[in-house]
Amino acid sequence: MTVFEHKGKLLIVDCGVLFPEETQPGVNVILPDFSYIRGRIQDVVAVVLTHGHEDHIGGVPYLLRERADIPVVGSELTLAFVSAKLEEHRITPKLQQVKEGQRRSFGPFDLEFLAVNHSIPDGLAVAIRTEAGLVLATGDFKMDQFPLDNRLTDLPGFARLGEEGVDLFMTDSTNAEVPGFTMTEEDIRPAIDSVFRTAPRRIIVSSFASHVHRIQQVIDASARHNRKVAFVGRSMVRNMAIAEKLGFLHVPKGLVVDVKALERMKDSQVTLICTGSQGEPMAALSRMANREHTIKIGEGDTVLLASSLIPGNENSIYRVINGLTRWGANVVHKGNAKVHVSGHASAGELVYCYNLVKPKNVMPIHGEWRHLKANADLAIRTGVPEAQVLVVEDGVVVDLVDGVAKIVGRVPAEIVLVDGMTVGGVASEEALADRVQLSNDGAVTILGILDTRTGALVEPVEFIARGFVQDNAWIQGATKSIDDALRAANKVKIVDGPELEELFTQSVTRWMQRKYRRIPVITSVVVDA
Ligand SMILES: [Zn+2]
Repeated sequence: MTVFEHKGKLLIVDCGVLFPEETQPGVNVILPDFSYIRGRIQDVVAVVLTHGHEDHIGGVPYLLRERADIPVVGSELTLAFVSAKLEEHRITPKLQQVKEGQRRSFGPFDLEFLAVNHSIPDGLAVAIRTEAGLVLATGDFKMDQFPLDNRLTDLPGFARLGEEGVDLFMTDSTNAEVPGFTMTEEDIRPAIDSVFRTAPRRIIVSSFASHVHRIQQVIDASARHNRKVAFVGRSMVRNMAIAEKLGFLHVPKGLVVDVKALERMKDSQVTLICTGSQGEPMAALSRMANREHTIKIGEGDTVLLASSLIPGNENSIYRVINGLTRWGANVVHKGNAKVHVSGHASAGELVYCYNLVKPKNVMPIHGEWRHLKANADLAIRTGVPEAQVLVVEDGVVVDLVDGVAKIVGRVPAEIVLVDGMTVGGVASEEALADRVQLSNDGAVTILGILDTRTGALVEPVEFIARGFVQDNAWIQGATKSIDDALRAANKVKIVDGPELEELFTQSVTRWMQRKYRRIPVITSVVVDA
């Protein structure tokens, strides 16, 4: 989420979510921090969505909970995806559909929209004109010269804006470290075709629920090889229905059937296209690998991962692939076949854009720090002065005054965790650390009954373990560590429950630190007799 501010008014560009990592168990999604705009929510003139990916639209329902009538601006497909999502949250948005080539004003912001090509159709870059200068934000984009929908990134438009004078260029950094040009979507057709030609039984494709182009390829291949297709997963079914209705997905009549209809067909005539609960592919696959999914993988099935492997999660991805293979599946993924191309511009394309746009200032966006830095280096190599290339993390404030961009401060930009139905609050960093410790080492509860008159324990303490193996040696050791601590504390005579609880927890923790490497979450409870 980026907030532009001019003459006291705020314009928001994109409002996405992140998906949790392994260190964030129990977290559904991660939101941007709205605290900076919360006090000024009436000053927001619009939220502009560059495209329909979750990391650009997923936060909109939560933003509109702050104020429901913020105009939501985007292309036809983007707005269709976001309204389906808002419907689930029972929010009726105020939509303003735009398309490439159009100009619209919102408060002091004059916006122009340009076509960009990405892994989802109908993406837009946005040029923002104010009295402070001209900003061009690409959103996610690449420069596929043979896209399935023939909709090219509007390089003539980029060049025209360059001639007008772009004061700040904000461009997609995701693939800035990758040399050359991103391959075209067409290039993976032979690999997908070969999967369909050779698969003996069912083909199970996992993809993001928004990857219309890739799903088009799977549908085309299914049609060529006489397979029927069923969509599995709420967001996949929903998004593909939308994409087909709006003409972004072309499905031959009768090709897509309900998943139940496939049961009566031969396995060699079946393609299943599925996704995870949030529209991401890995969740569904990991449930299949663990046999928790309605699709039961069997001998001879082919699983096609038609998406990127999420970087940084390699271990869990290979665990999933191992699991699927163990059930007898042949798993085809970008590591062993050319079944995926990125949706993001590589270094060659970025350099091309810098030379075309000739920006005065550059602020790389979208990506982790190393991606932003790599993108910044590209800008500098094309001649943008180093001082005018700003690598900033979330929350940093950049001022654009008289054609010069400068870092001037910082606003709160914590990540906000959505945990079940709770936004923020419960899912604190501390709670997450507890969850990780619980899942690694389990929990032990120490139970004592105290006679408050004498200050003595009525019975020996009891240990209740979950996810932690306690044998006799452990119980003896833990009991002894508590007895020792009690003897040492006897001099001060403890008669109060909370103090005893503290003493139990501390003595067992200390003893376990010495004796074992792992420490479960230890809780002590002392009740009065
Ligand atoms: Zn995207």
